[in-house]
Amino acid sequence: MTATFPLPYPNADAPGEDLIARCVHCGFCLPTCPTFAVLGVEMDSPRGRIRLMKTVWERRLGADAAGFDDHISKCLDCRACETACPSGVEYGKLVEGARSQIVAVRPRSRIERAIRVAAFDWLLPHRRALGAFASISVLAKRLGARAVLRATHLRAAGRMADLLDLVPDRASASGPPRIVRARGERRARVALLRGCVMGSVFAPTNAATARVLARNGIEVFVPDDQTCCGALHAHAGERDRARALARRNIAAFEKAEGSERGRAPFESVDAVIVNAAGCGAAMKEYGWLLKDDPEWSTRASAFAAKVKDATEYLADIGVREQPRGLGVRATWDDPCHLLHGQKVREQPRALLAAIPELELIPLAEADWCCGSAGTYNVTQPDLARAVLDRKVGHILRSGADVVITANPGCLMQIQAGLRAAGSRVTVVHLMDLLDQAYGP
Ligand code: SF4
Ligand code: SF4
Repeated sequence: MTATFPLPYPNADAPGEDLIARCVHCGFCLPTCPTFAVLGVEMDSPRGRIRLMKTVWERRLGADAAGFDDHISKCLDCRACETACPSGVEYGKLVEGARSQIVAVRPRSRIERAIRVAAFDWLLPHRRALGAFASISVLAKRLGARAVLRATHLRAAGRMADLLDLVPDRASASGPPRIVRARGERRARVALLRGCVMGSVFAPTNAATARVLARNGIEVFVPDDQTCCGALHAHAGERDRARALARRNIAAFEKAEGSERGRAPFESVDAVIVNAAGCGAAMKEYGWLLKDDPEWSTRASAFAAKVKDATEYLADIGVREQPRGLGVRATWDDPCHLLHGQKVREQPRALLAAIPELELIPLAEADWCCGSAGTYNVTQPDLARAVLDRKVGHILRSGADVVITANPGCLMQIQAGLRAAGSRVTVVHLMDLLDQAYGP
């Protein structure tokens, strides 16, 4: 007979038996799991974590148990195990559900609660606030704040210095105009997600994305009132907060569509384009996120069906204008939430192959996480660094001069890792590279 705890209670988002039971414990996913590779502990493998979720589901362990939190928190949510799994286990849904369960029952310190409110409610959904925060961070980095912080030899100050290492050299909120007309005959019309980090730090990449699409006959418009997609919230188990942002985005994009009178929502837009892999993966799952909300579930599914990564959309519709040669030795690193979350593998490679004089060098373990993983490099710095070191080692051995990727977290994490290793290899978003290849 199994002991049952009086508490904790799978909540509505907790991983249910239908998802858990798909795991047959075969272990095929274990060799693809970065945390299992670093820690060598079964409970830090996908199979071990699913076993823990099952134990909680059966109420033989409380969702507030420290061990449950520890092993689930150490997961990168990279979803490499999902790609490897022959039984179709949807691990991303499992781990995000487990985290929401932990958030619901595990007491947090006052400081941790304040950090969550500041990050999830004040910064991420508000582009101007996030932009100001980014500008201050860039300035602090330029003024040498890292050396000062490290000189204190205080652990907390050292952590802040580590975080400043991740900050890019410049942040810009100067993105594309509201409408970027197609060049030549219009082939399609798409809406662009501005994004929180993309819109306030990497906004020039948004502008580059719009230009590249327009060069290929695709009109781009940027709906007003849109906000952060909620991916970071969902990864951290903050599913109610993620739902609130998803509703705001769906309404904003529907409203923008309403400007074309007489059309049903999303009828006149061919796709919702996202150039941050983590955001795209989350938005493709808006239907799942809002599945229990009768007012929003159908709208969320209609929205999610239109979401495409920029590389996926452009490669599928086909490059119409040939880019010019670039003469670089480059390597491609798959963002986890593009490859494993959205199953987009071939399209970015096809776009790179379309750039003349670009020597594409295969990267060992290109399908492995870089350790960025949303806020993982903040919450699990030691593990994140171990995972990053492995990635940087492969990049340096590849001999490439440029690393191409398609997610802001990966851009910042890999660039920081390369710099720490004394390397001059640069990291570039694929849309920026294409924009550069097209020239002015
Ligand atoms: S998640 Fe999939 S691959 Fe991993 S143990 Fe379960 S069934 Fe096997
Ligand atoms: S999501 Fe990544 S880190 Fe987490 S269990 Fe799967 S492979 Fe391991």
